[in-house]
Amino acid sequence: MKKPGKVLLVGAGPGDPDLLTVKAVKALQAADVILADDLASDAVLALASPGARVIHVGKRGGCKSTPQEFIERLMVSEARAGNLVVRLKGGDPFIFGRGGEELEALRAAGIECDVVNGITSGLAAATSVGVPLTHRDFCAGAILVTGHEREGAKTDWRALAATGLPLVIYMGIANCAAIQRELLAGGLAGSTPAVAVQGASRGDEHSLLTTLDQLPQELADSGITSPAILVIGGAASLAQVRPRAESAGSIPEAHVPRARRLPR
Ligand code: SAH
Repeated sequence: MKKPGKVLLVGAGPGDPDLLTVKAVKALQAADVILADDLASDAVLALASPGARVIHVGKRGGCKSTPQEFIERLMVSEARAGNLVVRLKGGDPFIFGRGGEELEALRAAGIECDVVNGITSGLAAATSVGVPLTHRDFCAGAILVTGHEREGAKTDWRALAATGLPLVIYMGIANCAAIQRELLAGGLAGSTPAVAVQGASRGDEHSLLTTLDQLPQELADSGITSPAILVIGGAASLAQVRPRAESAGSIPEAHVPRARRLPR
């Protein structure tokens, strides 16, 4: 009988292959089979060994998608066939994106599994526009949160607003107006700086700096769509944004007050 294979859940980072870990590159080069998210960029996949079989198992919110159970079954059957399977996931495998569920499914099937960190897009997006997320002059931490709640779950945005910590919101574009209303109702000032970054670290990255009260309108005007990260509060006002090349100039200058610094 063939030796059982194993699965590596590998973080593909935000898109720029230079942001991959060395361990991720080694995994891509050793893989027999790669099950790739559609957030894993082509430039990252180009580093895979030419002999690896690449299976695209993308599933983007609202679009036709590969069911999660199918992906899990495929990982198990490929590993049982003796293959080294790389499950390549955008950003970090354990930050949203269901990596935890995949690990549980593999453990339940008795398949050996290791996890390789990637740079999560929330951190990459903030860094790409020059926002130090935990700059001590502004805040004592940061919150990573999804803007796309699973059925039956309800994020208490007012409670998050009350923490005063910057919010790094994944999958928040579609629900942006509702999130904004709740944050304002929770006491965040309309003048709180807000940044949106689409395609962080990719060739088509573009970004917007505005204020919480202008956010839904300016997002719509800017054409920024998913995949994008929102950073609200903290040092967001330090952002050096890059509007979309073809619309540069049509986006009005943001009038964002410098956020108040904490006393040292
Ligand atoms: N595991 C991933 C997140 C998966 S959830 C990670 O750690 O980054 C999918 C969401 O991630 C997208 O809707 C978007 O909010 C964000 N995202 C992923 N790649 C991105 C990128 N290059 N730029 C901006 N946002 C990105």
